[in-house]
Amino acid sequence: MSDEYRQMWRDLGLNLEAHDVLLSVLGQGYKDVFLSQENRPQGMEYFNFVVSQVHGLRIKELLDAQAEGRKVIGSFCVFVPEEIVLAVDGVLVGLCSGADFAVEEVEKYLPRNTCALIKSALGFKLGQVCPYLESADLIVGENTCDGKKKAYETMGGLVPKVYVMDLPQMKTDQGRALLKSEYQRFVTKMEALSGRKITPASLRKGIQTVNAKRRALARLNALRAHNPAPISGLDALLIHQVSFYDNPIRFTDAVNRICDELEQRVAQNQGVFPQATKRVLLSGCPMAVPNWKVPWILETSGAVIVGEESCVGERGLRNAVDDSADSVEGLLDAIVDRYFAIDCAVFTPNPDRPRHVREMAAAYHAQGVIHYSLQFCQPYQMEAIPMERGLKADGIPTLRLETDYGAEDVGQLKTRIEAFLEMLG
Ligand code: SF4
Ligand code: SF4
Repeated sequence: MSDEYRQMWRDLGLNLEAHDVLLSVLGQGYKDVFLSQENRPQGMEYFNFVVSQVHGLRIKELLDAQAEGRKVIGSFCVFVPEEIVLAVDGVLVGLCSGADFAVEEVEKYLPRNTCALIKSALGFKLGQVCPYLESADLIVGENTCDGKKKAYETMGGLVPKVYVMDLPQMKTDQGRALLKSEYQRFVTKMEALSGRKITPASLRKGIQTVNAKRRALARLNALRAHNPAPISGLDALLIHQVSFYDNPIRFTDAVNRICDELEQRVAQNQGVFPQATKRVLLSGCPMAVPNWKVPWILETSGAVIVGEESCVGERGLRNAVDDSADSVEGLLDAIVDRYFAIDCAVFTPNPDRPRHVREMAAAYHAQGVIHYSLQFCQPYQMEAIPMERGLKADGIPTLRLETDYGAEDVGQLKTRIEAFLEMLG
């Protein structure tokens, strides 16, 4: 891939030397973590291909879309509605923030004790290694946690195309009204940027495309309730990660195809791990590409992950948007209803989240919950304490982990995870 796309990367202003290093580390990591798994479903070949082309063919597709007059929008949060971007024939891509890059440079702009996800977002910019960031026509930030909200000020000084969406912090009528007015502002922004007017038909089409994608992912997740699990947690996580940057229609077809295969596995009682493998639910901060550390430790220590309560997982995909209204206003209300239900830890109070974790643990027959927070992530770290206490009181064993993107704590995490799995009996 490297030679074929070199000129494209150069034109985007990437630092080719640093980019080569990134691609080689990613390639090796993918081989070690994913390709070394046994008994993977055949349908994973599609996702292997997508990952192999993540900086190649997919970027070319985005540039081709721009050449046709379409806009590419980058985002860092599941509160940015893809439905609205699709309604102006745009493309929404998630900007990965799952690896350390240019850390020394980043710490000239952000305090050291900033979460790894935020540092990574800036590191990919400062290191000039992200073709998505460089090719996007607009980068949408959001006022969620304090770290992100301040980091977008810094990023705005480095990238002129940052647009910040204000988000509510409480699930009140005023909070819903704020979300609606921000989505209206986003509609206006997208119409001005694309030169296209959103119509009931274009918005409904966008809603249906995203609903279909979410339905396919929900189908995949439901299949993981079976014991033995027909797919590893690592592969399921990868599929969720790919959902943020692949073409949504093609992606939905690929997920439904792998689900057909997994249904056959379930019918034949065939799994990726033996039936006695410990089943755990992962809950907490989003795991952006290529953050695979904790899932990899878990699944090489005798566990199978049967669900992710995360924005790269069920928190980000559950609930469909009602597409029955016949006006843009009505459809926008339905979009607000769906997104306002997201139980991100930046909301206070946030009782839906522990409820959802319990529901998922029961539905996927998890024997325990791993609560995962990134270091310096106050919202999720704060929620982790009552979450652990509450789940334990309900008889659901829970392990609370805090980590970052570095490899230094792998041994220590492995020891704690193995002890936890042992305790699951
Ligand atoms: S955890 Fe909250 S801020 Fe982060 S992506 Fe999810 S909804 Fe957005
Ligand atoms: S992981 Fe936590 S601190 Fe980091 S961006 Fe997300 S909510 Fe903010």
